[in-house]
Amino acid sequence: MVDGDGVRLRLAHLYADVMNVYGDRGNAIALRYRCEARGIALDVDGVGIGEAFDPGNYDLLIVGGGEDREQRRIADDLVARGPAIRSAIEDGLPALAVCGGFQLFGERYIDADGGVLPGIGVFRMETVQPEEGAERAIGNVLLGTGFGEVVGFENHGGRTWLHGREERFGTVIAGRGNNGEDGSEGARVGNAIGTYLHGSLLPKNPAVADFLLEKALKQRYGESAALAPIDDSLEESARRAASAITRRGDGEGLGRRLRGLLRRSG
Ligand code: GLN
Repeated sequence: MVDGDGVRLRLAHLYADVMNVYGDRGNAIALRYRCEARGIALDVDGVGIGEAFDPGNYDLLIVGGGEDREQRRIADDLVARGPAIRSAIEDGLPALAVCGGFQLFGERYIDADGGVLPGIGVFRMETVQPEEGAERAIGNVLLGTGFGEVVGFENHGGRTWLHGREERFGTVIAGRGNNGEDGSEGARVGNAIGTYLHGSLLPKNPAVADFLLEKALKQRYGESAALAPIDDSLEESARRAASAITRRGDGEGLGRRLRGLLRRSG
């Protein structure tokens, strides 16, 4: 059991200043909180466009979501880093890629204007736009996953299709997920998780956060390293509340009412 004693982990937060739609930086905040509650130091390095970055120097990697404009801004820089990131994830680097970041961790993303953005191929999947007039996938989401029920919300136009036997992150209980058709949400490979879930994801889903942290500890300090338990009563009550709201569909109705209001107000 690792609990303090000079334990230190390093987190690389890719494009923290650009890919932060809906406050996805909350994932870095949650990881730091869950480390410090155990006496573990977490160094968080924001990695901007053009900045030096060797994934081999890090124990964890995260990237948040962004609208098409932000994705276009980072795409070339991310592609240049793709081989090193893919290799590090193949070697077991724990990673979390959310929404726009998740899409660019696939093989390609076709944006709302039909522009093709190359991805880095961590996940065998592609993201395309739906037929003309199709609604964006917006609303609360509830998933069944290997971590139990996971809650969050989605707001994306793209539809993601996993290739072959690529593993999904979860199965949709409520919401749209990858494409609103095959029941899949997100993707997993090695210790990397891709998902559409904003929220941000990790504060209300402590089991997912601790999965990433424990994998990072084991990579750095050996297989016997394990996280000491911490009090998750607040996190669990938030997760249960979000799950109940999503099951009731309140969020859907609320989202639809807000969209109607915006349409009427021109
Ligand atoms: N721009 C992408 C889409 O619309 C991702 C959006 C996001 O990151 N919220 O599908």
